[in-house]
Amino acid sequence: MKLLLKGGTVVSSLRSEKADVLIENEKIVSVGEGISAPDAEICDVSGKLLFPGFIDAHTHFDLVGAARTADNFYTGTKAAAAGGTTCVIDFSTADRGMTGRQALEEWHRKADGVSSCDYGFHMSYTEWNDDLSKEVDEMVKEGITSFKLYMAYDNLRVSDADLYKILKRIGEIGGIVGTHCENGDMVKELTADLISHGKTTPEYHPLSRPALVEAEAVFRYLTIAKLADVPVNIVHLSTRLGYEIAEEFRKNGAKVYLETCPQYLVMDDSVYKNGTLTGAKSSDEFEGAKFVISPPIRKKSDCDCLWNALKNNRLDCISTDHCSFNYNKDKELGRDNFSKIPNGAPGVEHRPVVIYTFGVKQGKITKEQMCAYLSTNPAKLYGMYGQKGEIKPGFDADIVVWDENAEWTISKENQNQACDYTPLEGVKVSGIAEKVFLRGTLVSEKGKIVKENHGKYIFRDKCMFYEKD
Ligand SMILES: [Zn+2]
Repeated sequence: MKLLLKGGTVVSSLRSEKADVLIENEKIVSVGEGISAPDAEICDVSGKLLFPGFIDAHTHFDLVGAARTADNFYTGTKAAAAGGTTCVIDFSTADRGMTGRQALEEWHRKADGVSSCDYGFHMSYTEWNDDLSKEVDEMVKEGITSFKLYMAYDNLRVSDADLYKILKRIGEIGGIVGTHCENGDMVKELTADLISHGKTTPEYHPLSRPALVEAEAVFRYLTIAKLADVPVNIVHLSTRLGYEIAEEFRKNGAKVYLETCPQYLVMDDSVYKNGTLTGAKSSDEFEGAKFVISPPIRKKSDCDCLWNALKNNRLDCISTDHCSFNYNKDKELGRDNFSKIPNGAPGVEHRPVVIYTFGVKQGKITKEQMCAYLSTNPAKLYGMYGQKGEIKPGFDADIVVWDENAEWTISKENQNQACDYTPLEGVKVSGIAEKVFLRGTLVSEKGKIVKENHGKYIFRDKCMFYEKD
C-alpha cells in the first residue's frame, strides 16, 4: 500500500522545505515537490510541519527500584507515540552476578509484543569481569552498541578502574558509553549530614547533590575517557559547571557527546519549595517529591546556560530520563526522609511539545535544531541513521505531522502516561503531534493512540561519531 503525504513542510536538522512524501512498505520512497502517485492514498498535510519520528534515547520503563515504575513498555511506549516519539532506547541492566545476555532476555520479555513505538536497549553494566568483556561481541550482534555506567548509587556504580576498562573495551567495538556523572560517595555523605540535622523534606534533595557533585564526576569521567582515548557520552547533563568542564575537554581534543533533558531546561529548583512548576505554592510541603529526580532540578542560571549551549549546537541529544513513580504510595515512601523517595519522574509523552513551546516558539532554538536534538543526532550517535532520524528515501516512514497552531494545557487528566501525576501539571503549551506514523502506519492522532503494539525491536549499528559544526 502506498501513502502520499501532500502539502507539508519537511523539517531536517539543516533546513525546512515544502515537499510531498511518498511511503511504501514501511519506507519513505520519495521526497519532493509535486509528487504524483495515482495508486496512493492521499493524506493532506498542508500547513503542517513534518518531523522525522522523535527518538527518546533515555527511558526507564518497567524499572524496579525502591518501587516499580507506573509505566511499563505497554503504557510507556503508547505515551511516547502519542506525543510524537516513534523510537525509545531503554536501559537493560545487568545487575551484579548477571550476564548481559540474561539482562537482554529480561528486557525483551518486558518489551516484545506490547510496544507501540520502536525500541532498542542500551546495556547497563554494574560490574566488570572477563566474561562480561567477552560477551560484548555478542551484544553487538544483538544490535546493542551503546552502554551505560553509573558513578553514583551503590548497587549500580562501577569503580574508576572498571570504568577505564569498560571504556577501552567498548571503544574496540566502535560503541559508546553514556555515564551518569555524580560523585556517589559525596551524595551519601551530604545526605547523611542533612538527615542528621533534621532536614528531611523534599526541598533538601537538591542540596544533597549540588552542582559540584556532578561537576567533579564529569571531570573524573572525562579524565578517564581521555586516558582510555575513546569518545564518550554524558547522560542528563544538568549544570553549567559540568557543561563548562566538558567544553574544556573538547578544546583539548576530547570527543564528548552531551545529553540534557527538558526538566533541566524548563524547571528551576523553586519546584522543591512550591511543589508545583507553575509557581503556585502547594499546601503540602511533601509535594516537592514529584520533582525528586537525579540529578536534581537546578538553578535558573543552569537552565540559561544549557539553552545557550543548545542554541550554539554544543549539546547533542535531548532525552527524557522518563522514570515514572506514582506520587501516592511510591513517592510517599520518603515522606519522613527525602532520601527514601524513589528518584524519577514521567516525561516521555511531553518532550516534543515542551521543546517546541519553550525552545522553538520562544526563539531559543530553531525547528531544525529541535529536529537535530530529538531525532537526527540520537539516530546518528546510537547507530540508527539510515533507518531513522531523517525524512529521506530509504529511511523508515516514521513521521510526525506537527500542527504548530494547537494550544492546550498539560495535565494528568489528559496524559497517556500511567503515572498518577505529571510534573508539568497546568503548563500551557503550543503545538501537537496531529498524526504520528510508525513505519508508514498511523499509530496516533492528536495525542490519542489509534494503533497499539506496532513497535518492534531495532537492531542498531555502530555509532556514528559525527563532528559538530
Ligand atoms: Zn536515567
